[in-house]
Amino acid sequence: MKKCADYLQELSDYLDGQLDPQLCAEIEKHVGECTNCKLMFDSLKMTVKLCRESGQCEELPAEFAQRLNQAVKDHWIRKFGKA
Ligand SMILES: [Zn+2]
Repeated sequence: MKKCADYLQELSDYLDGQLDPQLCAEIEKHVGECTNCKLMFDSLKMTVKLCRESGQCEELPAEFAQRLNQAVKDHWIRKFGKA
């Protein structure tokens, strides 16, 4: 079984459209069942959407995705005390 943190690490790839369809389905299923992940997922999705709509970044640069990933992890650890 994957942990929530595992899914969160895949979220930035997912939002970037770089994930296998099978993994995408897995994430979508988990997010549908897990409130904590849904909250993170929604706020990440919003961030990416706003970023793209503002025209500041057409696609997420690898560096940004990495920072995002780290931010998610930090946030998660602060909020729930574990990764
Ligand atoms: Zn979860």
